[in-house]
Amino acid sequence: MEQKTQDLVPCTVSPAQALALFEQIDREIFPLFRQVLHGQPPILKVRDMKSQWGVCCPAKRRITLALRLAEKPRAAVEYVLLHEYVHFIHLNHGPDFWAVVEHFMPDYKERRAMLKS
Ligand SMILES: [Zn+2]
Repeated sequence: MEQKTQDLVPCTVSPAQALALFEQIDREIFPLFRQVLHGQPPILKVRDMKSQWGVCCPAKRRITLALRLAEKPRAAVEYVLLHEYVHFIHLNHGPDFWAVVEHFMPDYKERRAMLKS
């Protein structure tokens, strides 16, 4: 009989594994923002965050991603990372912010929905 332990296991991915995945995806997204960031890639961090998938700190050129994000489909991870990159242009979630997200990722709403499952 199969035991259902999913609810008990905190996270199946290690921070190092998560960072490796995020860095891989970052290599695809960074070129889109190379000019915005003056050619300097952001510092990527992984943290065991409960309430947020990602945080962008433009002043420190730093993006922090939740450890648990690494368990989500790649398309959803790409969305979160792009979302945080767009904060280098717009700090708040105003219409201008979402216009940039949609410009780079027209299917972002479907990707975002994958985070909820
Ligand atoms: Zn945001």
